[in-house]
Amino acid sequence: MNTPFNENALKLAPWSATKLKIATKCPFRAYQAWVAKSKEEWDILPDDSPMIIGIKMHTFMELVLSKFPKDVFPDMVNLNAFGGRMLQVILKDEDLSYKERDAINSLYHGALSTCQRFLSHKIKTKSKSFVELPVGIDKNFQPIDFFDKSVFFRGKIDYMMVTPSGATAIIDTKTGAWPSLKSHTQQLRSYEVLSLHALKNKMRQDYNITLSSFISGLAYIASEEVLWDKVRPLKLVEGSGTQNFVDSLNKVSDLVFEKKVLRGNHCNYCGYKHLCGSRRGKMGKKVQEVRM
Ligand code: SF4
Repeated sequence: MNTPFNENALKLAPWSATKLKIATKCPFRAYQAWVAKSKEEWDILPDDSPMIIGIKMHTFMELVLSKFPKDVFPDMVNLNAFGGRMLQVILKDEDLSYKERDAINSLYHGALSTCQRFLSHKIKTKSKSFVELPVGIDKNFQPIDFFDKSVFFRGKIDYMMVTPSGATAIIDTKTGAWPSLKSHTQQLRSYEVLSLHALKNKMRQDYNITLSSFISGLAYIASEEVLWDKVRPLKLVEGSGTQNFVDSLNKVSDLVFEKKVLRGNHCNYCGYKHLCGSRRGKMGKKVQEVRM
């Protein structure tokens, strides 16, 4: 079977939803980082605390969701006792600053309530659940190990629930700023396509479940909210959903090799500003002149 991905998309593999997002926001920056392999530290934020807090809260939720006893109903009294112990595991890290500890403590209750909703829903709907599930597909949409060197697109699904009738919920957990569904649609859709192709056969073989539909959402733990996208039947994800995924990956890969400058919200901390000439005013003009 011939792969539907173009040469540029294949050159840039392995892909992930984050990589696709970065390339979509600024193909020029992606070119410098992945193709020219410029030494600029493009991905280091001036303050990496938000990232550290996000990773710690993901680990916290992973511990609670995967280790909370299966035979105990997840009411808040039980969960508080259990969650407190998991929180101590997270806070053991001596490298955490006071500011980061404070932030983790302030997110604790939101994260625990989100876990309670997931665990209760799982019991109510008799769903199978998966936490931090690594999935991968090769260039022909065949399932492949996350770490395999031939993996074409891969991702870790924060939380996934599959009901006995095959209704699948994919949840991405956010700890930072209030997320908008619109700015994460591409990421959620790529998780749907990835999960469908990576897990369809496995679900049938291992659990006798035939996947039937997808719904994806963003769990914003600071407010215990889940922002849900629309339910998408399997046929849609398999058909136009997969085609859109291929088209956008091919298109963005071409833009990367064209070194297209698309000013995005990375500009404020991007290490390639002096190369791309995106700055306005005198300095920007100067850079544009040098480039010409
Ligand atoms: S400064 Fe903005 S436009 Fe220029 S490379 Fe960075 S992200 Fe792209």
